[in-house]
Amino acid sequence: MIYMRGQHRDYDDWADAHGCRGWAYKDVLPVFRRQEANTRISDAYHGTQGKLVVDDPCAAHPVSRQIIAAAVSAGVPETDDFNGAQQTGAGWYQVTASGGQRQSAAHCFLKPELDRENLTVLTGHLACRLRIENRRAVAVEARDTAGAHVTIRARREIVLAAGSFHSPKLLMLSGIGPRDELHRQGIDVVHEADEVGRNYQDHVGAPVTRHLVGATGLHGADRGLRALKHGIDYVAFRRGLLTSNLLQAGACVDTDGAGRPDVQFNFAPFAPGAPGQAPLGFHALQIHPMTMRPKSRGRLGLRSKDPNDAPKFYSDVLAHEDDMDTLRRGVRLARKMCEQPELKDLIAEEVWPGPDISSKAGSNRLDDAIRAHARTIFHPAGTCRMGPTPSAVVDLELRVNGIEGLRVADCSVMPALVSGNTNAPTLIIADRAADFIPVSG
Ligand SMILES: Cc1cc2nc3c(=O)[nH]c(=O)nc-3n(C[C@H](O)[C@H](O)[C@H](O)COP(=O)(O)OP(=O)(O)OC[C@H]3O[C@@H](n4cnc5c(N)ncnc54)[C@H](O)[C@@H]3O)c2cc1C
Repeated sequence: MIYMRGQHRDYDDWADAHGCRGWAYKDVLPVFRRQEANTRISDAYHGTQGKLVVDDPCAAHPVSRQIIAAAVSAGVPETDDFNGAQQTGAGWYQVTASGGQRQSAAHCFLKPELDRENLTVLTGHLACRLRIENRRAVAVEARDTAGAHVTIRARREIVLAAGSFHSPKLLMLSGIGPRDELHRQGIDVVHEADEVGRNYQDHVGAPVTRHLVGATGLHGADRGLRALKHGIDYVAFRRGLLTSNLLQAGACVDTDGAGRPDVQFNFAPFAPGAPGQAPLGFHALQIHPMTMRPKSRGRLGLRSKDPNDAPKFYSDVLAHEDDMDTLRRGVRLARKMCEQPELKDLIAEEVWPGPDISSKAGSNRLDDAIRAHARTIFHPAGTCRMGPTPSAVVDLELRVNGIEGLRVADCSVMPALVSGNTNAPTLIIADRAADFIPVSG
């Protein structure tokens, strides 16, 4: 629910460095603005009339407030808008949640249109592959909720929006992908496209974690009487902790002096565990530095021809030394924030990286700790890269190169990850796809 667009330069780089003309910041800003219904800010960067409500976080947590103050003490300027003229600063995030309602794509853009005669939504279906005839995508082959085979024919176009893992997987299952990969799985090559599944990138982080003194964090808020109170608050008044995304605050900082933030920090009044694991079982805070423009690239391929199988996935995060360097700088600054007077009395010993691990330059133990602890920030992107030449997976209007009647419209088309969370950027990619599709006569 963190609403973050990334930096102006990200989109200018898409246009200039990656050749995606028409995707510069000046081109995407009007789309961000027209989507947005910002509850506080109305200016050249923010819209107020759109369908996507962007609000300030409610139930602001006092520990998060202290971390913001500590970041400012450590030299980071304070900001009240990460999506304005520039991104640098520490402060409260704006969120895609308002009045106790998550402002999801479904809630804001799909549900209001459900009555349309030309819209049918089928949930619980698994798209298995696309049928391609004479180099044109003509149908989606799927399984319905009972597992029965269904074919959904396209009158005009198919728009694939299965995300950075499943869009490339579906292309490969349909015979569009690297020749070797398809041959290995016994899939006939319909269109050789080497880049399908390549160029995978993700933000990765390593959270500096400290014990909190006393019961000042969120630990235990999901149990017993505290949980009951939060439940009543939510059900009766649509307020309180259950309306919060919990990661309410953060910072974007230029740690290498290159003139633009390269590390984003999430501030948490609890210690989320690694993906798939429970939060740590005591009161703690986390200051979580994350790479903003990772240079490491991974890839994904197929495990089998079975659409139920997850793709095979080589993340290769932190393969590029610069990404390690970025995280080292991030850990150092997070530790510096913890040393500020605003936090000193609030926190006790360090849980991670741990008091015996130095973050001085050249510390091998810190590198080992980062590698052991690094985790995804859940922003996979780039696996159906957009570009100006036929080697890219999609062209600048998101059409799959080499195949008629097929587009991809999701996070996978990003030529390079944006410097920030990926939901808002994905929403404008989707919006632009709708613009590109010709209106039927
Ligand atoms: C835990 C978590 C927290 C996050 N927090 C934030 C945040 O605070 N702010 C932010 O900006 N971003 C956040 N993100 C990232 C954000 O959710 C993604 O960038 C965004 O959802 C990407 O959109 P997408 O359309 O590319 O893919 P998705 O949202 O993954 O959509 C793809 C859809 O396709 C469906 N699908 C896939 N394969 C098939 C198939 N074969 N048949 C039928 N359906 C299929 C999937 O079920 C899914 O619904 C978070 C992500 C995670 C996982």
